[in-house]
Amino acid sequence: MGGCHCGQIRYEVTGEIRDRVLCHCTLCRRTAGAPAVAWFTVSLPGFRFVQGQPTTYRSSDVATRQFCAVCGTQLTFQHDDRRYEIDITTASLDDPDAAAPLVDFHADTRLKSP
Ligand SMILES: [Zn+2]
Ligand SMILES: [Zn+2]
Repeated sequence: MGGCHCGQIRYEVTGEIRDRVLCHCTLCRRTAGAPAVAWFTVSLPGFRFVQGQPTTYRSSDVATRQFCAVCGTQLTFQHDDRRYEIDITTASLDDPDAAAPLVDFHADTRLKSP
């Protein structure tokens, strides 16, 4: 189980948690206002919203992200070519330790001091 910060949106994960990454890409950074975003992936149907409806944002030509419209928590990422699975923000889990990131993704764009 997980959800946004304000509690209006809640979700349930029943699928196997895999692909635990910490993403340093510029799109994740900008959409979260954070230096990196941790994600995990589940195959669908292994994820569903059980309370509230997120706002959908088209973050690029090929992918969509979902947020809570009230508090701004980013919740999901879905690529158009991978409709059979969805990425979920690790830190929106009630127990994020259970899916802590194991590898860095897009480490080439990791923030670094000049
Ligand atoms: Zn919220
Ligand atoms: Zn990213």
